[in-house]
Amino acid sequence: MLCPYCGKEMGFGVIQSPHEISWKPKKGKIFATAQFSKDAVILSEFSFLKGSCVEAYCCDECKKIIIDYGVD
Ligand SMILES: [Zn+2]
Repeated sequence: MLCPYCGKEMGFGVIQSPHEISWKPKKGKIFATAQFSKDAVILSEFSFLKGSCVEAYCCDECKKIIIDYGVD
């Protein structure tokens, strides 16, 4: 994937967490899961077996991370 900011090839990798990974419009309580926040986007639901993991592209030049969500 090419970086939409600088046009260079981005590095592919994963973001892992022992907790759910979500995007929210506002910072909430640290242990509240996304289902309690409307407008939340769950990037990776928590799994007891695997933890949470999403694939992501990184541009080291621009210091940007791009994450696809809703894909399995
Ligand atoms: Zn870039």
